Amino acid sequence: MSGGARPGKAGRGVPAALALVAAVLGAGFLLGRVSGGLGATRAWLTGASPGVHGENVAEVGGRPAALAPLPPRAEPVTGPGRPPLAPQRFGPAGSRYTTGTPEVALTFDDGPDPTWTPIVVALLHEYRVKATFCLIGANVVKYPQLVRDIAAEGHTLCNHSWSHDLKLGRREPRDILADLRRTNRAIQAAVPGARVSYFRQPGGEWTEAAVAAARRLGMTALHWQVDPKDWGLPLKRPAEIAALVDSATRDGSIVLLHDGGGDRGGTAMALRTILPRLLARFHLAALPPGVDPPRRYGLDRPEHPGQR
Ligand SMILES: [Zn+2]
Repeated sequence: MSGGARPGKAGRGVPAALALVAAVLGAGFLLGRVSGGLGATRAWLTGASPGVHGENVAEVGGRPAALAPLPPRAEPVTGPGRPPLAPQRFGPAGSRYTTGTPEVALTFDDGPDPTWTPIVVALLHEYRVKATFCLIGANVVKYPQLVRDIAAEGHTLCNHSWSHDLKLGRREPRDILADLRRTNRAIQAAVPGARVSYFRQPGGEWTEAAVAAARRLGMTALHWQVDPKDWGLPLKRPAEIAALVDSATRDGSIVLLHDGGGDRGGTAMALRTILPRLLARFHLAALPPGVDPPRRYGLDRPEHPGQR
């Protein structure tokens, strides 16, 4: 029950085949960057799929190959602007465990990552799926444009702590609060006006103090129901990740996946199967604002007069 490897520890013991996949996908990303940004990356990904994932070629081929990027929002907010989810606290230490609605929520942890986040964002765009990204503060300050790209696509932003400290929940309440505030400030520096309505404890190592700190800052403690362990070493094959998600997901599932923290080529490849299969069975949606009193900037007090 872990939320993923810590950043920077990835890469050791990667099977040769997956390393090759990573290199190929990474090359595609670089090509996209060189020749025109995300649109080109999307086109390359679409073009690369036949022969690699034969079973999905028809479904993939039926969708638009390279949509124009969405215009940036004047004032980005997280969530699709719907009412908050009903309260639910039966996950570990009182965290949220499912959406509580028929909707399925895909969540991506440990980014933003310069290699994998653009690929995951492009795939979600191609399938017109909104998801939730649980961001590590130290990565946010390194790659703020990736956070803007995520927000501009209409995905929900989630705080995943400053440095993926697995013991964060066992630290002093004031230290937990400081870590969460620092991470929210980094997200809001990248995306002015961003509302961070969710916190996910690294590794899912929830404590009541971690849940309480999130609540105090206006964030819902976000656990998960489905974990295909795409973070574990040795890395799983894409087909294995996809099969685990496919078999475990039901109405209301919160699905844990990773776009950072290591080699996520397997997750990226698995999404080519996961997205069409889940779309055939469920409505996939980003998480809306949390149930706790919304504080627009995810802080425990206004930063300026008039702020909610
Ligand atoms: Zn994590």
